[in-house]
Amino acid sequence: MPERIAVLGGGIGSLSAVLDLTSEPNWQQKYDITVYQMGWRLGGKGASSRNPAAGQRIEEHGLHIWLGFYENAFELMRQCYSELPSGSGTFNSWQDAFKPHSLVVLEEKTTEGWLHWPADVPTNDSLPGDGAPVPTLWDYVLMAFEMLEDALDQLHQHVPAKGKVELVQLVVDHYGR
Ligand SMILES: Cc1cc2nc3c(=O)[nH]c(=O)nc-3n(C[C@H](O)[C@H](O)[C@H](O)COP(=O)(O)OP(=O)(O)OC[C@H]3O[C@@H](n4cnc5c(N)ncnc54)[C@H](O)[C@@H]3O)c2cc1C
Repeated sequence: MPERIAVLGGGIGSLSAVLDLTSEPNWQQKYDITVYQMGWRLGGKGASSRNPAAGQRIEEHGLHIWLGFYENAFELMRQCYSELPSGSGTFNSWQDAFKPHSLVVLEEKTTEGWLHWPADVPTNDSLPGDGAPVPTLWDYVLMAFEMLEDALDQLHQHVPAKGKVELVQLVVDHYGR
């Protein structure tokens, strides 16, 4: 007799636990799983779907950004898409569903108005969810320096009249106030 499991709520937390249980060989003989979800929609705060009656408009809670270091989340999504029969959803592959996007703009409200802080996050050749080894502490230190250098280059493009050392001083002065 399979063990009966009731899962309360169909958010990403419980759905990933269910996916793990149903990935075991012969899981049907071991478990009888029911997910209880209030309302009509699975996914909880991460739920997202398209409304064909409104030009395939995306309907969701709000903007979700998956940075490249969401290694486990991407691995999970890639597993889901690999198990999804082709043509059964809006997207056929995880790369249809996730598009790389590097430009992030942070906004700062100052007494002179809004200050825009664009950052073009550097990319690498890896694919998220490949299960690559976690970078070492030294890798992170190097990446932090690369990002700083990149940010400084971008700032320099916006304020070309200033030298890079002056720019660093400007930022330190601004935040040291
Ligand atoms: C606007 C917004 C933006 C976000 N952006 C990001 C992002 O960019 N990156 C990121 O990693 N995270 C982001 N998050 C956070 C992420 O969405 C949540 O951490 C995650 O979805 C939580 O998942 P969960 O399964 O723990 O809970 P939930 O998603 O809250 O799922 C719980 C589910 O249980 C159901 N439920 C509750 N009580 C009952 C009951 N008694 N019976 C039946 N069902 C019940 C609920 O209806 C819901 O479907 C964002 C969240 C929001 C709101």
